[in-house]
Amino acid sequence: MHENGLIKVGEADMSAGKSVGRNAIVTGGASGIGLAIARRLAHDGANVGVFDLDADAAEAAAAQIRADGGSALAVGVDVAHRDQIDQGMDKVRAAFGPIGILVNNAGREGFQPFLDITEDTWNHLLQVNLTGTFHCCQAALPDMIAARWGRIVNISSSSTHGGQPFMTHYVASKSGVVGLTKSLALEFGPKGVTVNTIPPGFIDTPMTRRNEAKGLLGGTVDHHASLTPVRRAGLPEDIANATAFLVSDEAGYITGQIIGVNGGRNT
Ligand code: NAP
Repeated sequence: MHENGLIKVGEADMSAGKSVGRNAIVTGGASGIGLAIARRLAHDGANVGVFDLDADAAEAAAAQIRADGGSALAVGVDVAHRDQIDQGMDKVRAAFGPIGILVNNAGREGFQPFLDITEDTWNHLLQVNLTGTFHCCQAALPDMIAARWGRIVNISSSSTHGGQPFMTHYVASKSGVVGLTKSLALEFGPKGVTVNTIPPGFIDTPMTRRNEAKGLLGGTVDHHASLTPVRRAGLPEDIANATAFLVSDEAGYITGQIIGVNGGRNT
């Protein structure tokens, strides 16, 4: 390996996304995209801290990972609360060691006419989606700086590319995540930490199906799939595949980037 962490041709294990021995945290890791990422990173050899609002669901996810031969610890954490994040990270450090990989995936959606959005609703959505990401980054970065190696992937949204009616608070929060990502990448690149964002586009998850059932999607999942250039809805595993690469050694020269995974939508 080159002294700057560059893997030279012939040295890399080209089965993408190897994270053997790394300690990772995935927020919102009990469902949908976060669950797929947690499972994939564990498959790639990482010890995974599964953070989720729902502690029982987090435990079910971690148990499933362990049953598959992986290493995982479930922690009930609301990313809207810094004290819970700090305590959760300490549990992961005690079980596995310093944190090298952080995936900020926990998020809430919001559908409301702009004029009806109350200050409380606005604040809560930003608290989870944007401030939660801020807190998790701030809590994990000291480990990465000490190791001179770290990987942060923030899950934003393809809605940030062009806006989305009736989702102003959601799109604003996720657009904040994009800006946070780019600025962190510049500040911590010299410390060996890469920071990137994946804005997913139309992924078939429990969140998406809940919104379909409430008639909030402007059509069914199948309808949206038919409008997508690759003619299918995305799968949580599509986001997990990209994340696995971004947190690997091979991705060390990629930072501050918006890596769209959207089947060609909203590009
Ligand atoms: P999901 O199936 O609802 O999973 C989200 C997980 O995050 C759930 O387990 C949820 O717990 C948890 N969570 C919510 N608020 C939390 C908090 N404050 N602290 C900790 N955990 C929390 O949703 P998904 O579709 O996989 O979405 C994952 C991320 O991708 C979100 O940030 C979302 O905005 C983003 N995204 C998704 C799509 C898509 O098409 N699905 C598109 C663009 C962006 P509970 O179930 O207990 O609430």
